[in-house]
Amino acid sequence: MVSDEFAFIHQYFAHLNPSFGKEARKMGLELGIGDDAALVRMDGTYAITTDTLIENVHFFSHFNPHLLGARSLDVNFSDLYAMGAEPQFVTLSLNIPVRYFDFDSFWSAYSDGFAECLERHHCALIGGNVTHTSNKAAPLAISVTAFGKSLVDGKSLRRDKAKVGDLVVVTGYVGTNGLYVKTTYNRSIRNLDSDLRQRFEQQAFAYDERMRDFVALLVQYCDCGIDVSDGLLGDLSHILVQSNCGAIIDYESLPLEPLSQSLLEDFRMSPKSLLKMALSGGGDYNLLFTLSPKKYRALTKAMKDIPELQGFKITQIGEITEWGDDGYADYDNDLATDGGRITIVNHQGEPVSLRLGTGSYNHFINRRQ
Ligand code: ADP
Ligand code: MG
Repeated sequence: MVSDEFAFIHQYFAHLNPSFGKEARKMGLELGIGDDAALVRMDGTYAITTDTLIENVHFFSHFNPHLLGARSLDVNFSDLYAMGAEPQFVTLSLNIPVRYFDFDSFWSAYSDGFAECLERHHCALIGGNVTHTSNKAAPLAISVTAFGKSLVDGKSLRRDKAKVGDLVVVTGYVGTNGLYVKTTYNRSIRNLDSDLRQRFEQQAFAYDERMRDFVALLVQYCDCGIDVSDGLLGDLSHILVQSNCGAIIDYESLPLEPLSQSLLEDFRMSPKSLLKMALSGGGDYNLLFTLSPKKYRALTKAMKDIPELQGFKITQIGEITEWGDDGYADYDNDLATDGGRITIVNHQGEPVSLRLGTGSYNHFINRRQ
């Protein structure tokens, strides 16, 4: 099956999501999978992004293939939403090592997870590529390129638009995926019975498809945002560097996921470890954005009128400050990556030194800084 590339594409990928074929045509798709390239008629502003997942770097070898199918899309969709765009089309490129040849249960589950995720985000798979490698040590590599259209014409979310006095706000929960990765590495995840383990895994890789509705509203109030892929502090510092400001973050207001909190005892870990994951763990794919207090009030008020957004969680975690002359700049908050731009404070606004050894993931250094 995998020995025949065309049969492979046909079996697992070419016929995904026929239910929105019509919708894809409306979005401008003139010709999909099957020719030398897809044909798409485009107008408006498009965000285009690509992300690769590599076995043993971004996922473990025995990771749930159904979740992996969705994950390979979500990491890209998160980038599109963080630009204020909605997913429309994706391509999928696979580099398949020999042990994944003829692994039908893997590819069936992978393509089901992939298809369900496309459906959730009203997105169409329009092409891709498959290469095989007989190198036994080669990892499975999955690359997705995603095309998304600006939800509101002329509006986007950029890293260079934060202003002093803006609030720093984050969607969802932080730290869950970091905790999952950590406890998989140190094997304490085995302390959980299989039901609980599965629930934890689902939480750690959940991606809220209501992000589309949320971002469609958000761009009307906000023009600065980033997705938290590598770690909250590291990703926030990208905004701060590009906008030339600083920030204070109230660590006591960080939204920690209830299941993760309740599992700490099973993992024999302290609450501080989850906090560390929340600040530097990455992998949660939340949207972090900044906007004035007035706009924030208007946003939360508008959310109340949108039925789909009831229960969609957003949390104010800090504030954008001047950089360098706020009196906090020299405070030793032990962050390796932020160049001193971020000050961690408690609920009372007092600077604290958490001594967490935080930083965010950097592929070139290939370790936690
Ligand atoms: P070519 O040799 O012209 O690049 P391919 O044999 O690579 O064509 O692919 C044939 C068709 O199948 C193309 O339309 C391509 O976009 C599509 N395709 C290849 N791999 C995938 C994949 N993993 N998922 C979806 N479509 C794919
Ligand atoms: Mg090709």
